Amino acid sequence: MVLETRSPEETFHVGMRLGQEAYAGQVFTLTGDLGVGKTVFTQGLAKGLGIEEAVNSPTFTIVQEYDGGRLPFYHFDVYRIGDVEEMEEVGFDDYVMGEGVSLIEWANLIEEILPEKRTEVLIEKDLSQGFDYRRITIREIP
Ligand code: ADP
Ligand code: MG
Repeated sequence: MVLETRSPEETFHVGMRLGQEAYAGQVFTLTGDLGVGKTVFTQGLAKGLGIEEAVNSPTFTIVQEYDGGRLPFYHFDVYRIGDVEEMEEVGFDDYVMGEGVSLIEWANLIEEILPEKRTEVLIEKDLSQGFDYRRITIREIP
């Protein structure tokens, strides 16, 4: 599925709809360049899960956990990851195999340890369409 947005609010809304439909154990992998809107999408997804707490990229930790919504939400940002062993140390496997909803920003950096079953989200700019244009490609990997 390919969606196009032209504002941060629209991207937030795409995330929110997916958050409303998210199921226990679902894993979202987010890929896209710096500043493309991964965190905006994530904030929408958290909202859709019913989380009222402010969601920002975890700066000092790899994962931030939110328990205030319909399901637990595990937000990973692996941008600064050194190697995949760091993921094992934070208990990555337990999170993605757990009952919560996991979302990994910069998932392409840890491709080799991603679960096979996942919902891939790719966000891209296309400057020929304007500065605020984003193309969001959502793909279920069964
Ligand atoms: P990332 O997490 O991918 O590094 P952020 O979500 O932190 O990116 O930032 C995205 C930036 O792009 C924000 O400043 C946001 O206002 C801006 N922006 C402009 N247009 C869009 C859009 N259509 N969708 C999402 N963000 C947009
Ligand atoms: Mg981000």
